[in-house]
Amino acid sequence: MKRREIIKNIGLLSLSGGLAATAAPYATQAGTMPEKRDLFKELGVTPVINAGVTMTFLSGSLMLPEVLEAINATAHDFANMYELQDKVGGKIAEMLHCEAAMVTSGASCAIVLGTAAAITGTNPEKIKLIPNLPGPRPEVIMQKTHRYLFDQAITTTGAQIIEVSGPEEMGKAFNGNTVMTLFFNAAGESSVTHEDFVAISKKHNVPSFIDAAADVPPVDNLFKFQKMGFDLVTFSGGKMIRGPQSAGLLFGRKDLIEAAKLNHSPHEAPIGRPMKVNKEEMFGMYAALKAYLERDHKKEWADWLERVKKIKTVVQTIPGVSGETYIDPGPANAFPSVDVSWDEQRIKISPKEVQAQLKSGTPSIVANIGGKKDGKKTLRVGVVLLKPEQVDIVANSVKDILKKAQ
Ligand SMILES: *Cc1c(COP(=O)(O)O)cnc(C)c1O
Repeated sequence: MKRREIIKNIGLLSLSGGLAATAAPYATQAGTMPEKRDLFKELGVTPVINAGVTMTFLSGSLMLPEVLEAINATAHDFANMYELQDKVGGKIAEMLHCEAAMVTSGASCAIVLGTAAAITGTNPEKIKLIPNLPGPRPEVIMQKTHRYLFDQAITTTGAQIIEVSGPEEMGKAFNGNTVMTLFFNAAGESSVTHEDFVAISKKHNVPSFIDAAADVPPVDNLFKFQKMGFDLVTFSGGKMIRGPQSAGLLFGRKDLIEAAKLNHSPHEAPIGRPMKVNKEEMFGMYAALKAYLERDHKKEWADWLERVKKIKTVVQTIPGVSGETYIDPGPANAFPSVDVSWDEQRIKISPKEVQAQLKSGTPSIVANIGGKKDGKKTLRVGVVLLKPEQVDIVANSVKDILKKAQ
């Protein structure tokens, strides 16, 4: 090492003032790192503009700068994962006004862990054996109309789902094998209301779980269900909260969260071990939730409407094209988009064809197909996941395709 370099390194060390502040110990040596490495290009992966909603196959959402900062800032030191989960969970519980919380690898993981917790409690023998416990299968009560793809996360634990319709049938479904009840918040139809569902579960002394994975905005939903009395609540981290895609929240009753933690990594062998959350994602999930709660939600909504207006204005410069504001009634994806429709006598292309052309274009844009009350299909252009500079790109791409079809 040349003298000048030694002096430079000593200078760096004394400036850094401690482990946390030093640069990544395994980082490439200064000067050998390419200026800006384009990994999309390097691997031939197409970057996509998401003019839709948060979709798992499209990598969920984009992490907030605060989240990336949290990930980067915490990547350079080790931490005890038990301590980290406890501290992050404690802080999240405080923020969400509930007894306890933990970071999971997503809402699906939260359902596995919540169900496992309801089955095993803190019993080490049961934790070791699940999903192959001796005796009759544990039972989880759900409304018939709430059955959905994600309920496989319940049966993963060895439990079986008991379907009920209406409060009376629900009340009769409890027996010694019942361990939990699950409410799918975004189900189209409910034969038992939230309130009755909680009350009936409480009456039978069985914990109630609500899956509200995609149900912010509004931000109030993050507080609503624990207030109603649900014992466990889950939200995805990688949807509109904009945390890491492989993170999520499970929160509620302290004893159940403690049991859920025992069923999760870093314990060596429980059912949740394959659903590990890494250290950076835990910090990242915390940072995402904090940023989400502190955001000016009114302003964000106004910005979304501004984007809607901009896209409408651009596409409507073509005669025969109309853009309408579409606000999804929720509970999932309850935010504005633009429904673009046109006179197909004048502009000879279908919404599906426009969607396909957007997807195969450069840049590749993913939009959805919507429908109006009269059954007419529309091109549904989402605005909430666009980067500011992408609003014009999307508006003009749609306009260009429609113009060519005139
Ligand atoms: C997205 C979603 C899930 C799965 O969430 P992950 O965080 O991707 O595991 C579960 N339930 C509902 C209702 C969802 O929308």
